[in-house]
Amino acid sequence: MKKEIIVLRLGHRPERDKRITTHVGLTARALGASGMLLASNDQKIADNIEEMTSRFGGDFFVRNNVSMTAEIKKWKAEGGKVCHLSMYGINLPEAVPELKKQEKLMIIVGAEKVPGEIYRLADWNVAVGNQPHSEVAALAITMDRISETDPLTAVFENAELTVVPMTIGKSVIHDNELKRKK
Ligand code: SAM
Repeated sequence: MKKEIIVLRLGHRPERDKRITTHVGLTARALGASGMLLASNDQKIADNIEEMTSRFGGDFFVRNNVSMTAEIKKWKAEGGKVCHLSMYGINLPEAVPELKKQEKLMIIVGAEKVPGEIYRLADWNVAVGNQPHSEVAALAITMDRISETDPLTAVFENAELTVVPMTIGKSVIHDNELKRKK
C-alpha cells in the first residue's frame, strides 16, 4: 500500500504568508505528499497550487479553511499519526525510524506561534535541528529523510509539462509533443 502523507499548514496570514504557504504546498507536492490542508481562508493559494499540479502532473490536492483540531482528531480516528515540526521537539534522526513505519502520516507546520494544544495532540513533536529556521526547509528535510525511495526522481502522472534535465539551458516538453512522438 502506498504511504499517505498530508501536510497541515497552520497560522497562515493571507496578508504576509502567501509565498511561504505556496512554497509549503509546492514542496509537499514535489516531495511526495498527497495534499495540503490549510487552516486559514485563502482560496487563491489552493487555486495556485492546484493550477501548478494540473500543469506538472500528479493528483495533489489542497483543502482551504479547515478546522485544525477537527482535522487532526479525524485523522487520528482513521488510524493516522501526527508529526508536528517544531524546533522544540525531539531531533529528527531520533524520530525517523518510527516515522518511516507510518502508512498514514500528517505533518504539521506552523507560521506564527503554534497553540499549545497542537503539541499535545501530536504523536511526535519533531525538530529538524533545534535552531529556528523555516517551515519549508523543515518539511523538505523531513520528507526526504522519511521517504523509502528517492523523492527527487519521482514521476508525476498526467503532466502537461515535463522538464528535461540538462547541465546548461532549459527544456520543457509539452504533453502534445510527447503524444506526437508516440
Ligand atoms: N515562533 C514560532 C513558534 O515558536 O512556534 C515558530 C515560527 S517558524 C518561522 C514557523 C514554523 O517553521 C514552525 O511552526 C515550524 O513548523 C517550522 N520550523 C522552524 N524551525 C524549525 C526547526 N528547527 N525544526 C522543525 N520545524 C521548524
